[in-house]
Amino acid sequence: MSGGGGDFFRPELRQLRAYGAEAAEGLIKLDANENPCPPPAGMMARIAAAAAALELNRYPDPEAAALRRVISARSGWAPEGILLGNGSDDLILLLLAACGGEGATLLVPAPTFSMYRHIALSLGWRVEEVPLTPSFQLDEAELMKRAAACSPRLSVFASPNNPTGNLFDRGVMERYIGVAPGIVVIDEAYHDFAGGSVVGMLGRHRNLVVLQTLSKIGLAALRLGILLADTDLVAELNKVRLPYNVGSFSQVAARTVLEDSGFLESQIRMILEERARVAAALERLPGVTVFPSDANFILLRTDRHSRTVFDELRRSGVLVRDLGGNPGMLHGCLRVTVGVPAENDAFLAAMRAAFG
Ligand code: PMP
Repeated sequence: MSGGGGDFFRPELRQLRAYGAEAAEGLIKLDANENPCPPPAGMMARIAAAAAALELNRYPDPEAAALRRVISARSGWAPEGILLGNGSDDLILLLLAACGGEGATLLVPAPTFSMYRHIALSLGWRVEEVPLTPSFQLDEAELMKRAAACSPRLSVFASPNNPTGNLFDRGVMERYIGVAPGIVVIDEAYHDFAGGSVVGMLGRHRNLVVLQTLSKIGLAALRLGILLADTDLVAELNKVRLPYNVGSFSQVAARTVLEDSGFLESQIRMILEERARVAAALERLPGVTVFPSDANFILLRTDRHSRTVFDELRRSGVLVRDLGGNPGMLHGCLRVTVGVPAENDAFLAAMRAAFG
């Protein structure tokens, strides 16, 4: 392959790097914003029994009708306004594929979840990044100005935002939705840790799409993303969805859990208590700044080189996410997922060794 294989592909791909996760073997894994607790044994047995009854020689239900009904009952939004994906990443790809084409612009705040920009660039979109304010809020005046100038076909706000951890101001988002020329996506991947959702806004705005996922509350292995929107909009998006994008096992396992999800609520409560404890302990360390979190992770900045701190933590057996390689506001920043108490203790001990 001449030119290292690059000649065959869109030129945009040259500036992209494949999404990579750090090797986690033998480490305390606080890098990927997962729920640290698996489902209880009784629930695992019920999932196994449901899986044993599957006809593996048959394709999945392409509409995932039963699962969509369960999700509808939980969210209060009609099943016809719900579309499921192989993780919410799949739904982001679907939205960009459906709305793209010549000259399409995606507007996102910066910093935010990197896959919006990554998928958009790989599909030939132009990406307009609007810096957040120093307190990581949306800059309303700048957003309005840029949206008027670049007419984005899609705007995406993650609220709570990854990696900053905070909710965005609802009033700002709703005023933006009211004037935005295209679709506005509010990605609520972390809303279970923030108490509340913007699903109630859906009835007021035909250009609003809400994304949720089961990945952060304890079912990351299932790869199940949820899109909620106006039924006409969902019908259009459904034309672009691949026929069997959610497998039979994921459908039946998610249904089994969501029909009896009390255990998730107690796990979420534990994560919230631990989030407060970890944040308070970090705040006592000299040279460490902790940013307020509405999610299941905490963003922190230190006065040392973030990669050095990352390496020291890893040598102590704890894997976090180093964000210091990013330009701009994330200088010196690390992101740590809230784990179970023993994991958080190990992280805090390693941080005390690095900063005590
Ligand atoms: N949105 C945000 C804001 C995220 O942080 C993530 C995961 N890092 C995703 C979407 C993707 O989640 P999923 O596992 O559902 O693809």
